[in-house]
Amino acid sequence: MFTLKLEEIHDEGLNLAWQEERASLLAYLESFSKIDFDFESPLQSEVKVKKVGRSILITGKVETTLQLQCTRCLKKFFYPLSSRFELSLHPLKEAPSEEEVELGREDMESSFFEGGEIHLSEIACEQVLLDIPYQPICQEGCKGLCSVCGQDLNLSTCQCVKEKWTSGFSVLKKLKLD
Ligand SMILES: [Zn+2]
Ligand SMILES: [Zn+2]
Repeated sequence: MFTLKLEEIHDEGLNLAWQEERASLLAYLESFSKIDFDFESPLQSEVKVKKVGRSILITGKVETTLQLQCTRCLKKFFYPLSSRFELSLHPLKEAPSEEEVELGREDMESSFFEGGEIHLSEIACEQVLLDIPYQPICQEGCKGLCSVCGQDLNLSTCQCVKEKWTSGFSVLKKLKLD
């Protein structure tokens, strides 16, 4: 885990680039109740950290490849992720000054830090989480699984689909017999 102390940030700002392996990322992600994705490649992060009053402004980007599960056909697929972000961090339990309030533009995320330290790994991981689609799909127009027999409809059609389209009545009959 990559942590930065406030006194390490010079007045002109600090440029940082680092890479984290899957294993150390997973240790962090264990604190989340449900992990429905995995890292396929290390997480590359690049940030510029600047002090603005007592607040910290972080701009940068995260890049990695994830393994996600398609919500339609349940297949795992690779998802290249590259996300730029801008984040302002305010000291916890201290009212922000006017200059710092200006940082809190609507389009910018803001958060808090405590104890004179900034947990950069955590921030990078959060940016990845924010960029994961709510309902990932493996490809545009994925046909998903048949809700009756579970056949992957991207690979072939199944009997159930045909019946549904030829006669609604035969589907009802089949359901009764089952
Ligand atoms: Zn799919
Ligand atoms: Zn089917």
